[in-house]
Amino acid sequence: MAVFTCEKCGATIDTRCKPKKCAACGEQECMCKEEKPAAPKQGKK
Ligand SMILES: [Zn+2]
Repeated sequence: MAVFTCEKCGATIDTRCKPKKCAACGEQECMCKEEKPAAPKQGKK
């Protein structure tokens, strides 16, 4: 899952695929992927 933020209204959407348009304001091509906070996940097996 990834969090996308609308550059227009700032709405955030947690979805798997990049949304084409914002569900909040309806603007298209305005969704930016938000960097997820560093997950406390370490060690690779
Ligand atoms: Zn929006």
